[in-house]
Amino acid sequence: VAADAARLNATALFATHFPARAFASHKGTFGSLAVVGGDTGMCGAPILAARAALHTGAGKIHVGFVGEGAPPYDPPYPELMLHPSGSLGFEAVDAIAIGCGMGTGAAAASSLERALACDAPLLIDADALNLLAREKVLADSLAARGATGASHAAQARPCVLTPHPLEAARLMGCDAATIQRNRLSAARSLAARFRAIIVLKGAGTVVASPDGRAAINPTGNAALATGGTGDVLGGIIGALLAQGLPGYEAALAGVYLHGLAAETLTAAGRGPAGLAAGELASTVRELLNRS
Ligand code: AMP
Ligand code: MG
Repeated sequence: VAADAARLNATALFATHFPARAFASHKGTFGSLAVVGGDTGMCGAPILAARAALHTGAGKIHVGFVGEGAPPYDPPYPELMLHPSGSLGFEAVDAIAIGCGMGTGAAAASSLERALACDAPLLIDADALNLLAREKVLADSLAARGATGASHAAQARPCVLTPHPLEAARLMGCDAATIQRNRLSAARSLAARFRAIIVLKGAGTVVASPDGRAAINPTGNAALATGGTGDVLGGIIGALLAQGLPGYEAALAGVYLHGLAAETLTAAGRGPAGLAAGELASTVRELLNRS
């Protein structure tokens, strides 16, 4: 019953917030997203995120690699615009998703610093979270950014953090078992500390906002317990932010769709064992077009 209620709310959420495709719309209508990450040897992570963003409806998707040796384009998805080592500027983008496969070196830290200085909505994942845990100046800059946003209008510069329990533990300075003992309270205290929306991942993903709202996502299953699914989630939420969804709603809708895609693929015999993270994106597209 609780899951049914959440499903109904998700439908209402899309009806309210997801932009209908007007006849005269163009790619600019659906926002431009920068996906930033991919240290040397980890180029796959931002590509997974970018492909998921494409199938979640973002108008234009740039991938900014932090390391060397990035491919010039993504052969199955030449729609994605790939930019080598640190060359992507963030001036003209509507949202930034940063951290997947990014590493925690100097180039990664400087990319995160630049992203935090932008007014665009941010999605912060993976190594960008590890950098926030390690570098106090970056953490302070994030909290200050949230404070500025709140004084203008609610979530004027939304920021969504997507830690798994170990990343959350690093941010809180405790261990993962402590996070897991009370996930709701951990998500709420991180939201208050960073003045950002927290998506605490894992079975029963918790979404908490600094304004006090919180929810537990009813969708998803153990098919998601495989590498790359977190990158796909980052791309989905990044695409929703680029399309103008408010931060909390983008986070809720993103985790809901990501989990429902896993359930749908599992029902079709493509999980729970052996689901590839990259398979989620086209199912997310089908679910979105059905909602
Ligand atoms: P990451 O650890 O960053 O790769 O992210 C893993 C993604 O898969 C997150 O969105 C998790 O919530 C999701 N996930 C992993 N295992 C499960 C599970 N057993 N049930 C539901 N969701 C899961
Ligand atoms: Mg991850």
